[in-house]
Amino acid sequence: MRIAALVKQIPAFEEMELGPDGRLRREGLDLEMNPYCRRAVSQAVELAAAASGATVTVFTLGPPSADDVLREAIAWARTASVSADGVLVTDPTFAGSDTLATARALAAAIERHGPFDLVLVGRNSVDADTGQVGPELAELLGLPFATGVRELTLEATTLHLRCEHDDGWVQARVDLPAVLSTAERLIEPCKVDPDGRASVEAELIRTVTASELGPGPWGAAGSPTAVGAVRLHHVARDHAILEGTVEDQVRAAVEMLARRGALDTALDDDVDTERVPAGSPSDGPPVAVAVEPDRPHATREMLGASAVMAASIDGHVVALTQDLPHESVLGSWGADVAIAVPPQLVEEDVARALASWATRAAPWAILAPSTAWGREVAARTAAHLDAGLTGDAVGLEVQDGRLVAWKPAFGGQLVAAVTSSSPVQMATVRAGVLPSLTPRSRRARLETLDASSSSRMQVIARTRDDDLDALTEATVVVGVGMGVAPDEYAALQPLLTLLGAELGATRKVTDRGWLPRARQIGITGRAISPRLYVALGVSGTFNHMVGVRAAGTVLAINSARDAVVLDSCDIGIVAEVRDAVPLLVAEIAQARANA
Ligand SMILES: Cc1cc2nc3c(=O)[nH]c(=O)nc-3n(C[C@H](O)[C@H](O)[C@H](O)COP(=O)(O)OP(=O)(O)OC[C@H]3O[C@@H](n4cnc5c(N)ncnc54)[C@H](O)[C@@H]3O)c2cc1C
Repeated sequence: MRIAALVKQIPAFEEMELGPDGRLRREGLDLEMNPYCRRAVSQAVELAAAASGATVTVFTLGPPSADDVLREAIAWARTASVSADGVLVTDPTFAGSDTLATARALAAAIERHGPFDLVLVGRNSVDADTGQVGPELAELLGLPFATGVRELTLEATTLHLRCEHDDGWVQARVDLPAVLSTAERLIEPCKVDPDGRASVEAELIRTVTASELGPGPWGAAGSPTAVGAVRLHHVARDHAILEGTVEDQVRAAVEMLARRGALDTALDDDVDTERVPAGSPSDGPPVAVAVEPDRPHATREMLGASAVMAASIDGHVVALTQDLPHESVLGSWGADVAIAVPPQLVEEDVARALASWATRAAPWAILAPSTAWGREVAARTAAHLDAGLTGDAVGLEVQDGRLVAWKPAFGGQLVAAVTSSSPVQMATVRAGVLPSLTPRSRRARLETLDASSSSRMQVIARTRDDDLDALTEATVVVGVGMGVAPDEYAALQPLLTLLGAELGATRKVTDRGWLPRARQIGITGRAISPRLYVALGVSGTFNHMVGVRAAGTVLAINSARDAVVLDSCDIGIVAEVRDAVPLLVAEIAQARANA
């Protein structure tokens, strides 16, 4: 058995700094292996160790210095007595590669050095955070793809998988060969110290240049997306760390919260008043939305945004949906046409149907939700159509008749305007960030699209253990860390009820299964933008706090005066959570009664 593991070298996250131009300062930055890729390597090595004669080949695309991550992976394999080598895809021509150009170069390198039975990739890279390379690669290689693999067993040539998706689980079976992306908790990450990495012989790493992979186009020339203007997102917190008795601190904190408007619910409902445009039966270009089953909020937001964009380009909105019959609902949200796609299709089939429809209908743009489902459907479609795809957009605009998708990067430290040069412009859209427009009264015209299932992925069960929208839409989030034991959660209920808050968590909490994974806030979890974030027993590392950069106010309660969360909040109470929370409830209730 031959296994390929794909790894990316990224800047050490805590050290990342942006220059005044919004570009990453690269000088003197420590570089390391992307955390999800560490799991891909570990899993590849574990599988190879269990199969006699199996080998691992590690691929990376990057500058010559990226050979360090190949050395680390090879050295890790050596600790398990697994035979491994590396392929460094490097050439100045690859500069400026977007996800599709990256996937093309890696697919070509894999084909050149293959065949492989299994290709393992990280779920996403934490610097770019698109999650697109895996599914684009699968499409280019013509292989099935499963994302967020959390549990895996291999029986002969069949993989049995349990995959972590946004707010639920997918149980699936797939025959090799296949491409899999690894979840964070799949396996212990590989890690080797500099001496171990240096001990790997140079001849184990082969270098591949662009011309060896074919005529291209490669790099920027082969990239259908381009990054334009950048908006920096500076966060200035007040860092008011309170002193005195717990009672004094809580009283002062509530006064400060009230002064900042952080307890003011009046503004929360004052949004979403714009109406969905009337729509048109025009023959103008379609703006298409790939509708994920059972995601009404994301669907409504995307259809509303599409209707607004369609109005400005004299186009019309098409919803491709497996969720029919909903023509009247889809119509009221912005769809002029609803195209029914058979419900039993899995992501790969939906992408094929969408791509074949797009080849005929030549849409101006295609949107999909930035969920596991949407990322695979969109990435496969983009790879098929050679279309520019922006991942995880938080804003959509039409400029000079073209789509501008705003994408956050570097843990939300900036948003960048991304445009596509391809005829079909694509974006996946983060749920909860576009307004839900007021519905119009209109039915969508119903059409059907014939499509059959040819995917080799057999989905056995899809289950949800949470609601992805809950945290996104919350105006107040109470985040719990290891400083709050699960048997204390019930005591938080009065605070949650009073504030109308949702519960969020640190990774350590979701790792222990105390709360569902969809509740994890941070660099490998969710980014949220509530009016108020209350951090209870949270240490406040960069990895967590980057997820609450967009919060209006951050209140932290921590018993340790030196906890870093107190340096990154607006208001800090130094106290035991169990002492402070009941006082906070009483004080907020009193403040509201007096208001
Ligand atoms: C690659 C990578 C990605 C990561 N991604 C994420 C991510 O997305 N999200 C995330 O959250 N983390 C992430 N982490 C982990 C992160 O770095 C921290 O380890 C984690 O957030 C700490 O969780 P915690 O604050 O719950 O626990 P701890 O660090 O254990 O902190 C507990 C805090 O509670 C306080 N405390 C204890 N008892 C009490 C009490 N009774 N009353 C008040 N305070 C109390 C303590 O003083 C301490 O500050 C990531 C790490 C890595 C390496």
